[in-house]
Amino acid sequence: MTNEPHTTDSPDQENLVVDALGTGVVKDYDRLINEFGIEPISNIFDKLDKNKRHYFMDRGIMFGHTGLQTVVDAINKQKPFAVMTGIKPSGKYHIGSMTTALEVIYFQQMGGDVSFAIADIESYVASGLSFEKATEISVDNVADLFALGLDTDPDKTFIYRQSEDQIVQKYGHIFSSHVTMNTLKGIYGDKIRVGYYNAALIQVADILRPQIINGSLPTVTPIGADQAPHGRLTRDIARKQVFQEKFGFTLPSFTYHLMLQGIDGSGKMSKSMPMSVFTLDEDFKSIKKKINNALTGGRDTAQEQKEKGAEPDKCRVYDLFKFVFDAEDKQLLDRRERCLSGELLCGYCKKDLKDAIEEYQKEHLEKKKQVFELALKVVNSNN
Ligand code: SF4
Repeated sequence: MTNEPHTTDSPDQENLVVDALGTGVVKDYDRLINEFGIEPISNIFDKLDKNKRHYFMDRGIMFGHTGLQTVVDAINKQKPFAVMTGIKPSGKYHIGSMTTALEVIYFQQMGGDVSFAIADIESYVASGLSFEKATEISVDNVADLFALGLDTDPDKTFIYRQSEDQIVQKYGHIFSSHVTMNTLKGIYGDKIRVGYYNAALIQVADILRPQIINGSLPTVTPIGADQAPHGRLTRDIARKQVFQEKFGFTLPSFTYHLMLQGIDGSGKMSKSMPMSVFTLDEDFKSIKKKINNALTGGRDTAQEQKEKGAEPDKCRVYDLFKFVFDAEDKQLLDRRERCLSGELLCGYCKKDLKDAIEEYQKEHLEKKKQVFELALKVVNSNN
């Protein structure tokens, strides 16, 4: 559910197919799909018109789902549904975190009410971050989200801190009585502190919170592919007889997205590798330097590229266009064709990207300035 990687005491990732603790690394997507019963996103296309789909769906960025039909039905019949998400405060909002945000905003625009957890218990467990510091960071993050398009109407977006919300704490505790240690070890490994298990169960309560409050209704939580085990644990708890009798939970649905990889060619975007990522309010000169240094799918020489064409699917510049900066399919397709044919050279393509980022950033920061006070008020006044 959350976007930021944990940083301490993670189990040995070499032994994990997926990374339940959120380091953002998935080694084998096919195995992930089979192991977690993830369905291809394309199987809802016949029920959801193209004009109602997010471009992430058609581009295979949002590549899979579990149980999304309930939400698609709600969208088509204009019935209520909930969008559950959250963020683990750890620092400035960065370009890799935007994938989840754009999906949440999309589902909200399709009619969903957003429930947004500031996962400060999780950030305490993972990074030892005090609740005060987590609040300060989350104000900035929420301002970014409002600037990206998250509805500022409190009836459409409910924001809360885990450390202050009695419902998620109470139900995290109750759910813990219905899960064995073996299950938790199977999902998260056994070389971690107990707090991780606790935080995971609170996260289950976060996802079910809209239904605990409002009764049974479809819900969707967009997550990175590495978070699939959380999704399965949540659905397993929701389907238990004791909770079905008490709440009649509609099994929560999840969408799964690919994760942007490091701009510099590293396997993931990480703040510990500054050249791999940039934040939305980073000095533009610094962003330019990172784009100039980006891994591309270009050839060794311009002449060779003109003759053979380049390889967009190996290119981190292309990834940034695909995820964020070429939102129009026609524009992206045109770039792809010119890249493949050798008509477009990487230097010009990087210039396009820098121009696009500069414009995007300028608009974003202007909007962020306008909503910052509101974010401060919302984060500090809830609960
Ligand atoms: S032309 Fe653009 S998309 Fe193609 S490899 Fe070069 S930088 Fe990447």
